[in-house]
Order: sequence, then C-alpha cells, then structure tokens
Amino acid sequence: MKQHLLEICYLIGSVTFIIGLKMMGNAKTARNGNLIGAVGMIIAIFGTIFLHKGEVSGMVYGLIFTSIAIGTIIGWMTAKKVQMTKMPELVSMFNGMGGACAALISLIEFTHLQHSGEAATIGTMIAIVAGLVIGSVSFSGSIIAFLKLNGTMNKPLRLPAYNMLNNLVMLGVVVFAGYVAYSGGNMMLAYLLFAAALLYGILFTIPIGGADMPVVISLLNSFTGLAAAFGGFLYGNKVMLTGGILVGSAGTLLTLVMCKAMNRPLSNVIFGAFGAGTAGAAAGGKEVKGTTKEASVSDVAVLMNYSKKVVIVPGYGLAVAQAQHVIHELEMLLEERGVEVKYAIHPVAGRMPGHMNVLLAEANVAYEKLVEMDEINGEFPTTDVVLIVGANDVVNPAAKTNPASPIYGMPILEAENARNIIINKRSMNAGYAGIDNELFYNPKASMFFGDAKKALTELVAELKTM
Ligand code: NDP
Repeated sequence: MKQHLLEICYLIGSVTFIIGLKMMGNAKTARNGNLIGAVGMIIAIFGTIFLHKGEVSGMVYGLIFTSIAIGTIIGWMTAKKVQMTKMPELVSMFNGMGGACAALISLIEFTHLQHSGEAATIGTMIAIVAGLVIGSVSFSGSIIAFLKLNGTMNKPLRLPAYNMLNNLVMLGVVVFAGYVAYSGGNMMLAYLLFAAALLYGILFTIPIGGADMPVVISLLNSFTGLAAAFGGFLYGNKVMLTGGILVGSAGTLLTLVMCKAMNRPLSNVIFGAFGAGTAGAAAGGKEVKGTTKEASVSDVAVLMNYSKKVVIVPGYGLAVAQAQHVIHELEMLLEERGVEVKYAIHPVAGRMPGHMNVLLAEANVAYEKLVEMDEINGEFPTTDVVLIVGANDVVNPAAKTNPASPIYGMPILEAENARNIIINKRSMNAGYAGIDNELFYNPKASMFFGDAKKALTELVAELKTM
C-alpha cells in the first residue's frame, strides 16, 4: 500500500515538473509554474521520507528534518535578499550544491557497496561513477563560475597549451572512471576519482570569461541534471530520473540557444574562450577614436516628444539602477502623446538569460511591447529615436565590423540604423566585455549621462512640463 502511494507521489512530482517547466516558458505564467514544480518536489520529498520501505529510526528523522530546516532557511533567506543583477551567481551556487549532492550520493553508495561486500552490477557501477564524476565537475565548476561572477576571480586564466592540458586531464578522468566502474575499485580510488573530477571542473571553468559565463553556467546546470538522473537510475527512483533528465535537457537546450544568440559554436565557447579575447579586448576597443556629443535632459525630452516612434534598448545598467518602473512611466507618457514605443530585447542583455524580460515584466510592461532582436532590427531605420539605457555590448557595432573584437560575430541590436541615438549611462566606461563602443562616436549619437533611474526620472519630469 505504502509503495503504491509513493509511486503516486512520484507520478504527481514528475507531472508537476513537466507542467511547471512548460509554464516557465512565458513570463505571465512563470511564477505559478515555479510554484507548481516546487509543490511537486515537496510531495516527492515527503513521500520518500514517510513512505519509502525500510525502517528509519527517530534519530535519522531528526537528522533529515534538521538538514531540511537548515537548507530551507539558508535558501529562502538568500533568494529573498538577492538582487536581480546577482541572480546568475545565486543560480551558479545552487547548481553547485546540486552537483555536490549528486557526487556525495555516489560516494555514499560506493561506501555501502564496499562495506556490504556485495558485487555490484556493471550498470550500478556506471551509475555511481558517472554521478560522482559529473556531479563533482559541476560542483567545482559552478563554484569557480560563482567566484568569477561576483568579481573575486575576474580575470580568465589561461596557461600555455591550456586546451591540450585540459583535454588530457579530461581524458585521464574518463579513463580512470572507466577503470573504477569496470574493476569495482576501492575507497581510495573513489576518493582519487572524486579529487580528479573536482580538479577538471576547476580547469574547465577557469579559462572561460566574459560573455561566455552564462553559457557555461547553463552547461554546468545540465551536468547537474545528468548527475541527478544517474542517481535516479541507481535508486530506481522515477522522480529523480525525470527531474534530472528535465534539468539536463533544458540546460542543454538553453546552452545551445545562447550559443546561437551569440553566433558561436559551443566548442568555441569552451575551447576558444572568450577570455582569451578579453585579454586583447582593449586592442579591439582602443582603436575607436572620435568625439562624442552630450545631450541635456531637455534636449532628450524635446527629441522624444516630437518623435513618432521610439525604441528603448534596456541593458544591464537599467537593472542595476532599478529603473524599470520609471522607464515604464516614460513609455506610458510618450504613448499618451501618440508616440509609438517598443522595447528591443537582446537575448543576452543584462547578466542572465531573460533578464530584461523579467525586469520589465516586474514593472508591468506589456509583454507584446518587448520585441526580439531579429524582429526589431528591421525596424530601426524607421525609428526616430533609439534610447539606450545602461546597455553597451549588445549595441556595439564592433560585433559586425571589427574581427579583432572579442564579441565579433555576436548578433547585435542595430541601433546605429535609427535616425537619432540617445545613450544613457554614467560615464564612457566599457560594458561587460571590457571594450570600447564605436556607437558612442556615431554622428547621430548623443550621450545622456547619469544614473539611469535619476536621469529617466528627470526626463519624465521634463516631459510632463511640455
Ligand atoms: P553591458 O555590461 O555591456 O553594459 C552595461 C552598461 O551599463 C555599462 O557600460 C555601464 O556604463 C552602464 N551602467 C551601469 N550602471 C548604470 C547605471 N546605474 N545607470 C546607467 N547606466 C549604468 O550590458 P549589456 O546589457 O549591453 O550587455 C550584456 C553583457 O553581459 C554582454 O556582454 C553579455 O554577453 C554579458 N552577459 C550576459 C549574460 C546573460 O545571460 N544575459 C550573463 C553574463 C554576461 P557606466 O559604467 O558608464 O554607467
């Protein structure tokens, strides 16, 4: 009876994961989708604790619930406090914890096998070893990604012959893992494999930098899913298997979509390392010379007030300044005056996939107003004013014109084709890729300096006087 109930819990868990994931595909339903998935996970966890066959002592229950309580409190408080701009760091850290769990499960199961003296089937050994290796790579790689994103390790490190070294270590780990799985290994070998996989995770992530970090995080995320799926195989646990496969496949798809958005093959992200370009980024950027024009708040207000069509390009700076509400106010004000307003959304604007969509949805900007890059690019020639707010790399024409630039080949928003270009940022500083932007020197462009929230608030006030 208990077993049947448990199977039902797992079925509910699996179905809710799929429904939740589907709902996360749209900003309007994403929040509920997340909640539905979480409820499914709670049902699966509590089902396992109370319905799984076998005796569990009171002390073990105590340990389980204490761990759940500690994890819940830390997770809840961190997620509550985190700023939108720090989200990729949090995702990276959570992902690392998932990888660590998968690796620990494998280590514990390995210990059980050694102590019981039972001969494990090759299938069990493969599941244990694969979970150990993939989970460890994901754990150490995610921690490095976290340190890179929070600025602790902000310079990509490349040793001479790095790719060869990395590939050798990878090959070594794979062969070693194969040996342990085939021979049944011993505890010493299991710990060595654990350490080797941790080392490979570090080596794999260290050279990658700049705009490639989100791709790597997504890839590591899919690794964690895969590692969890091996855990599911190991225990014959269907919900773990479904959850793992969903995370694995969703992560892989997201990785590929992001690579496509940057117009770079995955192999180039991993082996070509954006970071290598960043070291020479200044070279790609410093060549930009020319003069810039500055626009005052009243210049910008007049220009926008007499426009027919305005396209807003939001970027990372909009998120930092938390200017999403005031930009929505500006949009409504202009629309009241008969100006058509749209938002141009670049797939990697901000610091995580979908960053701008989430930010603008929070300010109740209508979803239909957010236009994707491929579609909006055709509209720039008929746009009177493009207002770029805290965006830089995603409008940098060097991506099309300068083969030496580290972002060369990345599709960009072609803001340079608009009739007037207004750029709001605080200074002439570079964006995430660390390179200068020739758009700022375009004769049609004017710099509208200032913190996005402050500058836009002044702009709204100025427009109201007109
Ligand atoms: P960028 O990082 O290129 O530029 C942001 C600009 O915002 C800066 O030049 C900065 O200039 C300005 N800024 C910062 N704070 C403020 C503020 N308070 N008010 C006004 N402006 C401000 O951002 P983009 O969105 O154009 O490009 C995203 C970059 O990040 C790309 O290189 C992308 O590949 C990368 N990336 C994307 C991820 C994703 O998944 N979306 C994840 C990680 C990286 P100043 O200092 O002068 O104000």
